[in-house]
Amino acid sequence: MGRKVLVLGEARDGGLRNVSFEAISAASTVADGGEIVAALVGKDVKALSEELIAYGANKVVVTEHEDLAAYTSDGYAQALLAIIESEQPEAIVFGHTALGKDLAPKLAARLDKGLISDVTDVEVGGDQVVFTRPIYSGKAFEKKIMTDAFTFVTIRPNNISPLAKDEGRTGDVEDLNVEIKNLRTVVKEVVRKATQGVDLSEAKVVIAGGRGVKSTEGFGPLKELADVLNGAVGASRGACDADYCDYSLQIGQTGKVVTPDLYIACGISGAIQHLAGMSNSKIIVAINKDPEANIFKVADYGIVGDLFEVVPLLTEEFKKLKV
Ligand code: FAD
Repeated sequence: MGRKVLVLGEARDGGLRNVSFEAISAASTVADGGEIVAALVGKDVKALSEELIAYGANKVVVTEHEDLAAYTSDGYAQALLAIIESEQPEAIVFGHTALGKDLAPKLAARLDKGLISDVTDVEVGGDQVVFTRPIYSGKAFEKKIMTDAFTFVTIRPNNISPLAKDEGRTGDVEDLNVEIKNLRTVVKEVVRKATQGVDLSEAKVVIAGGRGVKSTEGFGPLKELADVLNGAVGASRGACDADYCDYSLQIGQTGKVVTPDLYIACGISGAIQHLAGMSNSKIIVAINKDPEANIFKVADYGIVGDLFEVVPLLTEEFKKLKV
């Protein structure tokens, strides 16, 4: 029979965030043979529909508007409410991104529906849809059964693999015009942080530095290693508090949650609040001078040594593998 599931395609800088494809994959499990509808909201975003279809959406509903050029919860909520009204889905999947974390609870509250957030896995058995999500800063996992038809879900990036891209897939693309009115927030200008390269929350490789990095310049060797591995640089709060780097790099309970394939912790002690943001990484490598450092308890590979000796050696070796 199957369910009808709506997914938000998160458009940014003329492209789609990878988590949109992961959301389609999660939706396909929930749909269980039913229909996957992707919502595409913004300005000049319609051209992205084909990619959503190639990743498994059966239909794309596009709402374009001048006032949706930049994200505002007010504007997006109006667009999404109209799409939900017209599509009547049984579940709605967002990425657990800054946007998803803002919008999904707002819509769930507005429609008086449930929200299961930060989901890392979805299974279907019989009539039941079961979502897995970490609790207690990643120390345990809980399973939530979707009891209410019409539930909002946010999925943690980098946990659910997208379906294989197939350019041969076909689907409908429909426009839904929505009158956007009474916006209480107006974006005057978007000022970007001067970060380069790969987005930390979606990176497959993260090289993170802690207080052991000792200075802003100390992040240089980490950046070089990240470049060779096409990864992103992250940090502990210790490094951010010491002003070695920007808080946008902070990983942990009060920072970003990352789940890359490879996490290399350099000069990070492994405080519980840091582990909350990275302990679900697939492979964890820790480099620390102190053999008793807590980070070694969660590491798959531990290197006891000075990061300023070890990191450049790793960079050299990975460079050799690339040629
Ligand atoms: P330290 O604990 O000082 O560790 C530095 C490590 O570097 C040591 O293990 C040392 O052996 C090693 N080292 C030193 N020199 C070298 C070298 N040359 N080579 C190799 N190793 C070396 N922290 C987070 O990270 N993220 C959060 O989101 C977060 N949220 C928090 C929320 C709350 C409410 C609280 C109370 C704390 C939070 N913290 C968070 C802070 C956390 O408790 C730790 O203080 C912080 O993670 C420590 O950072 P660190 O590991 O870089 O520094």
